[in-house]
Amino acid sequence: MIAEQPVLSLLKKHFGYDSFKPNQEAIINDILNKKDILAIMPTGGGKSLCFQLPALMFDGTAIVISPLIALMKDQVDALKANGIKAAFYNSSQDTTVQNDILSQLANGALDLFYVAPESLANLSPYFNNLNINLIAVDEAHCISSWGHDFRPAYTQLGYLKSQFPQTPLVAFTATADKATQADIRTQLNIPNAPVHLASFDRKNLYLEVRPGTNRLKQILKFIGSRPEESGIVYCLSRKSTESLASKINASGIEAKAYHAGLSAEARNSIQEDFINDRVPIIVATIAFGMGIDKSNVRWVIHYNMPKNIEGYYQEIGRSGRDGLAAHNILFYSYADVVQLRKFAEGSSNETYQIAKLERMQQFAEALSCRRIALLNYFGEQLTENCGNCDICKAPPKYFDGTVLTKKVCSAVARLKEVEALGMVVDVLRGSQNAQVFDKGYQNIKTYGAAQDFAWLDLQQYIIQMINQGILEIRFHENGRLMLTPLAKKILFEDKTVRLANIKKHLAEAKEIS
Ligand code: ADP
Ligand code: ZN
Repeated sequence: MIAEQPVLSLLKKHFGYDSFKPNQEAIINDILNKKDILAIMPTGGGKSLCFQLPALMFDGTAIVISPLIALMKDQVDALKANGIKAAFYNSSQDTTVQNDILSQLANGALDLFYVAPESLANLSPYFNNLNINLIAVDEAHCISSWGHDFRPAYTQLGYLKSQFPQTPLVAFTATADKATQADIRTQLNIPNAPVHLASFDRKNLYLEVRPGTNRLKQILKFIGSRPEESGIVYCLSRKSTESLASKINASGIEAKAYHAGLSAEARNSIQEDFINDRVPIIVATIAFGMGIDKSNVRWVIHYNMPKNIEGYYQEIGRSGRDGLAAHNILFYSYADVVQLRKFAEGSSNETYQIAKLERMQQFAEALSCRRIALLNYFGEQLTENCGNCDICKAPPKYFDGTVLTKKVCSAVARLKEVEALGMVVDVLRGSQNAQVFDKGYQNIKTYGAAQDFAWLDLQQYIIQMINQGILEIRFHENGRLMLTPLAKKILFEDKTVRLANIKKHLAEAKEIS
């Protein structure tokens, strides 16, 4: 039963807030209407409140599945401080404590019961006679091997929906690309749950990609022009953090290296120095930054390309937390791609890693608004160019690419949306190769429809279409290329498409460098 007090007064009473953050209200409404949902909200977006508040409005106890013991404890402490009856259960507790919590649970004395996924299976019998009003799965991306933080215990959560068919099952995460979102819903047995996607857009972050030539010179010039500013340079290897830091120091600017090879004390003290503005620049591996709350980081440089877009987004997200302008530079070189591919090869989820890497590479090669491409990756459609990325600031020359786009979309449709990028290019160019003939593709209507294009150029134009959200690559399904709703608008509703003229753009890039 839903309490009679309106939601807003409960928000004030229990949490002391006067209004909701974006998306909280819509999510809470769905939960109060007993819907299963998947919510994707950026870090700091206020996820916990979305399940905590409904938990207090329903009779009975809410189960919250949370992967990190420290996080669990923090949340429970904060709830208790607000006078809410909450407890957590995990393997770090001794049996006496565990039994005490279980008896509170059995007596219905808890509003929220936090539990680690590993402990959950053993507890399932205890839940049978309880009034479980809500099940919240926090950090839900851990269920997917397609996500970046896979936790095997999460894959056992699929039974929850069958044990509690009437109870809303709500999943939350800050990081899930489209494939992971689909996987979470499938595995939790809530395939039709609505997805709430809060905006990942951070408008104050300027996004720039530069060719990875003469990186040191470029970096020294950049930081030299921004004295007093705090920034982070991310490198791929420990060794390169050390050598780059010392080269920056040699130029008279203070910087410290940070990586997992340093002692805990050393890392702590570097971190403190940075947070308290005693050291302006950190040259680090991706080990640096998690949980660091520094509001005035003015720039982030990626000396090497990150291995996926999730990582890139997280790392640039450490700049400009105060909402003021921040500058992010990614150095892109093909050598990095090769190196990262080598790392990925032979790993247990090699296909996924390589697919994600290719998506990162496409972002770096994009010739249309970077922010549109970035947000697209997380399933968010931005309709206008952002005006705050390198491409928007210095756009390449464009041409009306509607006809070409229609040809590509119609080829994708005629190939039944099952073929990958390479085959689509082959078919459009009227390639004579055996794979095309084996499948009889020489007989489809768009065979050879773009025969004037060089292979790599056509591939690049199709990548632009992907980055504009017209086509979508399903990496976990052999990279098949599919049409999005936007493609249908182009095919059937005369929507026009602008494409960047790569020949022109490449020539200009050569002139500059
Ligand atoms: P997430 O888990 O999404 O990273 P949290 O749930 O930890 O975010 O919330 C981030 C911060 O926002 C917390 O300090 C929380 O108390 C605060 N917060 C949550 N909801 C609101 C709200 N409606 N108004 C103001 N602050 C809020
Ligand atoms: Zn832009």
